Amino acid sequence: MPAKIYKNLIGGEWVESRTGQTYENLNPADTRDVIGIFQRSDKSDVDEAVSAARKAYEKWRLVPAPRRGEIIYRAAQILEERKEEYARLMTREMGKVLKETRGDVQEAIDTAYYMAGEGRRQFGATVPSELPNKFAMAIRMPLGVCGMITPWNFPMAIPSWKLLPALVCGNACVIKPAEDTPLSTYNLVQALTDAGLPSGVVNIVTGFGPEAGAPIVEHQGVNAISFTGSSEVGRIVGEVAARNFKSCSLEMGGKNAIIVLDDANLDLALDGVLWGAFGTTGQRCTATSRVIVQKGAYRQFSDRLVYRVSRLKVGNGLDETVEVGPQINEQQVATTEKYVQIGGHEGAKLEAGGKALNKPEYSYGWFFEPTVFTEVDPRMKIAQEEIFGPVVSVIPCDNFEKAIEISNNVPYGLSSAIYTRDVNRAFRAMRDINAGITYINAPTIGAEVHLPFGGTKATGNGHREGGLGAIDFYTQWKSIYVDYSDKLQRAQIDTGE
Ligand code: ADP
Repeated sequence: MPAKIYKNLIGGEWVESRTGQTYENLNPADTRDVIGIFQRSDKSDVDEAVSAARKAYEKWRLVPAPRRGEIIYRAAQILEERKEEYARLMTREMGKVLKETRGDVQEAIDTAYYMAGEGRRQFGATVPSELPNKFAMAIRMPLGVCGMITPWNFPMAIPSWKLLPALVCGNACVIKPAEDTPLSTYNLVQALTDAGLPSGVVNIVTGFGPEAGAPIVEHQGVNAISFTGSSEVGRIVGEVAARNFKSCSLEMGGKNAIIVLDDANLDLALDGVLWGAFGTTGQRCTATSRVIVQKGAYRQFSDRLVYRVSRLKVGNGLDETVEVGPQINEQQVATTEKYVQIGGHEGAKLEAGGKALNKPEYSYGWFFEPTVFTEVDPRMKIAQEEIFGPVVSVIPCDNFEKAIEISNNVPYGLSSAIYTRDVNRAFRAMRDINAGITYINAPTIGAEVHLPFGGTKATGNGHREGGLGAIDFYTQWKSIYVDYSDKLQRAQIDTGE
């Protein structure tokens, strides 16, 4: 059966790209499996999508927010009904195991229910005026058209974090999903349109970053940009957005560490490291990439970790017994290979994995052995740079203070964790680790949708996603003064007597 052709969604119509070009979306576990043919769009498609969004925005902003929330609520119900179907398609297009793609769809469902409720909140402030017979308040207004550029590792969850708060706040959207995983964005938007979202309120333009993403960032008709991806691209996106005074939220890399102290429950810490480092094949911005182990537990912990890692089952994520899926593409495998070589040259000890898998059953996919380096020095490149693959570096350390210092001494500040039974040290870690997220006795992954998500340093530019943070990003304040005194009253000048 020939692969299905997916078109751009512009102004409620499914349309081909003006370029006339398309590209194939391939299954990273088996590249003979073509998920679909997608449009390779450019600036001309973005221009049309932005005009459609601008037009739709003028009506959408006037729809009462609780009504907007009801559409999102219906979308949540539709996503629940289609959860298994969408999770299977996501495993095919992205590679991560079914358990995780079900979680990814669930994250969109959770976000949808939360944001549906925001239709009846979006709290503002009413405050006393300094003058008599005068009323003062601050209310939330939409931004206008929001441009969204998303990565491939959370193909539905991340688009949902951006689209759903933007929509409930009254914005219209143009989204460019990652070239490797556009179908899951389609499925999310399909649920929204089936739930009754009016035409043009969300527009999808697929294609490659410089061709279809950059024109969204540059477009004068786009008021805000939300980007998740690499720090390298984020820097470009942030600079271009700043030149046009656009609100811009950047969510980028991480080099997340789990600290394991001598007094930790080592069984628990081991399970945490396995899940944190090899879940999503290590391709999460919150993946556990470093484990800092205090010297009393170091040898035993490293040996047990190596034993468990070398027994992880790698394969096609549609097989329920598989624990680690493929990497997303050839380039990502090449990056992992490069870092394994660097680690070897730097003098780290390779104790598990280290190679791309090339047995016959792996020959059509991008599989890499789960890999452990021990005896890692915190200054090594493998302990400093984001790898985004199934590689974890174990770093020995002397004491708690040193562990915090090592944890902090990287360019990023997204997620962090500590395993200890000492409540005093746990609280000091919560205070002293420089990161947007800290877990106690849990791994670096597993954010819940209603808490702020984001990080410090090169991880972000100060904004947060997730329930509490998102409404702030997708609205702007308007202060309103109502003078019912029937006379001119001058703030700071008249006393009101
Ligand atoms: P990753 O390494 O995770 O693929 P990228 O930062 O390369 O991260 O990509 C994240 C998203 O940014 C993708 O949707 C990609 O197409 C898009 N992108 C890449 N380059 C640009 C660019 N120059 N301008 C705008 N978007 C881009």
